[in-house]
Amino acid sequence: MDEKKEACPFCEIVGGKIQTRRVYEDDHVLVILDINPASPGHLLLMPKKHFRTLTELPIALTTYLATICKQLSWAVLRTLQAQGTTIILAQGEAAGQHVPHLLFHIIPRKEQDGLMPINIPQQPFTAQDLNDVKAMIIHGIKHIIEGMPKGENA
Ligand SMILES: [Zn+2]
Repeated sequence: MDEKKEACPFCEIVGGKIQTRRVYEDDHVLVILDINPASPGHLLLMPKKHFRTLTELPIALTTYLATICKQLSWAVLRTLQAQGTTIILAQGEAAGQHVPHLLFHIIPRKEQDGLMPINIPQQPFTAQDLNDVKAMIIHGIKHIIEGMPKGENA
């Protein structure tokens, strides 16, 4: 954990060792402008503590990040006259997570902004495949949600 933390550029950003364009921070989160933005106002929202994935994140902090994410989206819609926002959280290398620190991308969008829309491809699976995965997910959700600590604090 400490090794990862030392090697994490976003922990260095949080600590002020790497200069960035900070737009918001409080005790728990930091929001910066992406250095290579997809559009003007492309924000990165991160917890100040090092967490790699949502799985590691305490529930109270997860709730807080989601709330800040909602407010940032609303802020760019109003202040930049954006027509929408694309919000991305990649978890794991297979999903395109290239940095070890959990972060949300909040990307202001406009019609004809030249960015690709989010197209979720449709793939052919059999009814049996879908029934099998449904059973696995229902079992997993029940196990995980019922096993969650109640009223956990960050
Ligand atoms: Zn980090």
